[in-house]
Amino acid sequence: MARSSGYRPKKKDIEEVSKLRKELSKLKYHQWQKATHIMQKITVLTGDWAGPSGGLIEPRACKYCQYYGHTRQYCKQRERDEKLEIENEIAKDKKWREDQQKKAESAPKIKNGQGDYFDSIGWAWVRDEYVGPLPACEEGEGDGLYMIKNGVTVKKKQE
Ligand SMILES: [Zn+2]
Repeated sequence: MARSSGYRPKKKDIEEVSKLRKELSKLKYHQWQKATHIMQKITVLTGDWAGPSGGLIEPRACKYCQYYGHTRQYCKQRERDEKLEIENEIAKDKKWREDQQKKAESAPKIKNGQGDYFDSIGWAWVRDEYVGPLPACEEGEGDGLYMIKNGVTVKKKQE
């Protein structure tokens, strides 16, 4: 674009240009005729107008949203979409983690083996770290459903 030397846009022109730019930004790709017309007005006001022999200055529409007045790099729609995409990814990831958590919680618990048997017959038992569940005999013992309380085996209250 040719810029005429020493040109300084007047305040009135600056306002007009921003108004025209706003108008331009409301136009979509297929409205190129109107966009070109507005662009011409802008270039005249900004001093970029090269005259009738300078050829048409073609306004470029955003390759992303197809609207005039900005490029893909500065596209607000693209920014919004990308932000939304990131948020969706985060939400998806969160849901996946929650699903994994649920799966882990609903998976069958490791069986107590002998302990389950003791539970089924109403015996208090303790887990020995070497041999596994053994009948309990001390006061307060009981790793399964039952425990020894006041010298007798009682069913533990479910938490
Ligand atoms: Zn855009």
